[in-house]
Parts: sequence; C-alpha cells; structure tokens
Amino acid sequence: MQRVAGAVVGSAVGDALGAPFEFGAAGEFSARFPASSPGLARADPGIASEMCGGRGWESGEATDDTQMAVLVGRSLVERGGLDLPDMFARFQRWATSNPKDIGLQTESVLTNGMPWDLAAALHFRTNRFAAGNGSLMRATTSAVFFARDGREATMAAARRIAALTHGDRAAWEGTAVFHELIRIALTGADPLEAVGDTLSEVHPDHRDRYTTVLDPKWHPDDATEFNGAVWPCLGSALWALRTTRTFEDALRAAVDLGGDTDTVAAVTGGLAGAVYGLPAVPTRWTDRLHVPLPGSTEPSLGLSELLSLAEELAGR
Ligand SMILES: [Mg+2]
Repeated sequence: MQRVAGAVVGSAVGDALGAPFEFGAAGEFSARFPASSPGLARADPGIASEMCGGRGWESGEATDDTQMAVLVGRSLVERGGLDLPDMFARFQRWATSNPKDIGLQTESVLTNGMPWDLAAALHFRTNRFAAGNGSLMRATTSAVFFARDGREATMAAARRIAALTHGDRAAWEGTAVFHELIRIALTGADPLEAVGDTLSEVHPDHRDRYTTVLDPKWHPDDATEFNGAVWPCLGSALWALRTTRTFEDALRAAVDLGGDTDTVAAVTGGLAGAVYGLPAVPTRWTDRLHVPLPGSTEPSLGLSELLSLAEELAGR
C-alpha cells in the first residue's frame, strides 16, 4: 500500500514540481534550488520549498497530467473496471471546462465531435504526428488498478486507454511499458531489472526505438525528439530513476532536464514513488499539493483525497 500511495502521490508531486519549469532550459531547477540546501531557493529566500509555483501555476498545483490521471482512476473505480466510453466522456467534460493546460492533440481529439472509438484514429490519419507523451503522463492510476491482473492484462489495458486520445501505436506501447514497470515495482522488485522482459512484450514495430531509449547507456541528451514525445519522456524517467538513489533526487534530475518538465517528472514520480513508497516523498512537497478538477463542482483534491483514490484503486 505504501508503494501504491507512493506511485499515485509521487506522480502528482512530480507534475506540480515540474510545472513552473515547463519549456525551461536544462539546469534551471538546480540553479534555483541547489541540492546542498534542500528546499531553500538561492534567489527567493522567502519560498519555503521547491514547490514554488510560477508560469501561471500556484505552489503545489497539479496540471493536466494529474487531472487526467484522476479522471482515469475514478472511472475505473466507479465503473468497476475498464469502461472506455465512460472514460472518454469524462475526458470530454474536462476538456471543455477550460483546463489551464491541455495537450494540443488531446484537445483536438476530445473536441472533434467524433465518437470515442474513432476520434483518436481519425486525428492520427490526418495529422500523423501523434506520439506525444499525453497518454503516458496520466497512466499511474490505471497502472496501479491493473497491476494485480498480471503483465499481459495491464499492458493490454494501457494500450486501450492510450488509444482513447492517441492514434499512434508508439504512444500505446510506451504507456504499456510504463504500466508493466509500475506492476513490477509494486511487487517490490526492481523495474530497471525488468526492462528486457518488458521489451519482449512490445509490439515488434516499436521494439527497437524503446530498446534504444530504455538502454542503461542511453542519456536524455541522446534524444532525437523533444521530451514531449513519448520515447524520450519514458527514457528520461527511467534514466532519472537509474542514476539516482532517492525519490527526491530522481525528481530533481527529471525536472532539471528542462523541456516538458511536468510530464517527465510526473512519469518519473509514478515510477520512483512505486519503488521507494510514500514515506520517501518529502512532506514539504505534499503539504501544498492540490489537483483542481475542471468540469466538476468538487474542490481541488489534496493529499488525503489522492490517498483515498490510491486505496480504492488498490482495493477493488
Ligand atoms: Mg501538464
């Protein structure tokens, strides 16, 4: 349960931690928050922690990554399993309620008026580029929910949920790999040791590219795309986990890469949270954490509501 809670909360924490640094340069985070003085900003002594807000985000405010993850999780819990039309309808209600942030492709798919089982495929047919990290970013809740069903089932569910908004199979496969690595981590095993086995379950057309970015020798500087694409996003999360020894340092490394910092850190936080468990998530990062839910009359979710969701996902 500590790993389940760590994954759900860890992903939200990464999202909120990275949001103020989105599209920034590499090294911006550590320049502002040196590792030697955790929580204290060099330039802003008045800021109590790295959960600093900025670029339109409040301190501790989670973005679309976590908002969509909550929609996925609630659909699974309330419907008692995978109900794709229900999940798509929740996405649509959210997308048309003016969220502060929404991926371009996700917005287009959710508002093009097409039915749930055609919208993403039609978008892919006309746009081709559809391998963004937008299905990977929201996958921690579904990964937790399907973990107990085993490798094949969790990877299959990941692909179907990804396909709601992403027509490119590359996005499905990356999300499926993430689901499986979370499943491994929740058993207490090392997901980094399971990469090889997991790659053997990736669709053959996509195996080579994932083999490249998940290789222990791969570095985020080797990426051939912006880290808003699914391959370097997943590769960077694995790199951050592999090259650090604590939850905190993994997230620092992820945000410090610059670029799509909220999503890279959300993916890293899901994995690192599953590996290290909730006690490893610094309380100075969770005390202001909140997840607004556009399209709902509910107030923002805080830590206790996220913990309740984690419990429901695990205890179905
Ligand atoms: Mg975001």
